Amino acid sequence: MSFHSPWQSASYVQSIALIRSVLRPFGNLENRFIEYLTERQNQRVRRHLAGSPARSALLIMPRCLKQTHCRVDVQASMDQCRDCVLCPLGDIARLCERFGVRALVAFRSHIAFDLARRECPDLIIATACHDRLIKALRSVPEFPALLTPLSGMEKQCVNASIDLAWLEEQLAAATPTPTQSPVAAGAIPVGSTTCMCKGPPSGPHTAGNP
Ligand code: SF4
Repeated sequence: MSFHSPWQSASYVQSIALIRSVLRPFGNLENRFIEYLTERQNQRVRRHLAGSPARSALLIMPRCLKQTHCRVDVQASMDQCRDCVLCPLGDIARLCERFGVRALVAFRSHIAFDLARRECPDLIIATACHDRLIKALRSVPEFPALLTPLSGMEKQCVNASIDLAWLEEQLAAATPTPTQSPVAAGAIPVGSTTCMCKGPPSGPHTAGNP
């Protein structure tokens, strides 16, 4: 069953951009509006999943969760993070292992979108700053994606944090029995799958700043 979202409509996207520009001068109102839109999105996704449970899920995390001085290439693999407690990626890696779900770190927005198009998971769980959440809703509206804003940040794009309780809740809901769940059984090995549902895979990825 395909996922339908108002973000697939150009007029909806334009109206959201207009509302954001009106709210922008008023302190935190624009972010509050984005959080409201995110919650609406999550409700849509949960309704969708009620009729079409996820057989595969993918976590897509931004690079700003990574501890600044860490040299591990988390874009290639988060295996080393499972034994590390220095940043939230360690908690995320352990949660994903527990629930049998793949987690990927994307260093740029377009890499995250390419990953989604290439892997075609039934469900995406992702976090980002407010502005990037809107970019995701606009850029890949065809994917059911549970979203949450980053819960804090030392400074712009540095040492960000995520609401781990929220993340665990989404994983638990999407994978009711961690070892035998449809998601765990259908988790897609990254980089080894060609998505046939939405055309040919996207081109090679390039690391850098968003
Ligand atoms: S969990 Fe540890 S190894 Fe992984 S990115 Fe953070 S600091 Fe680096």
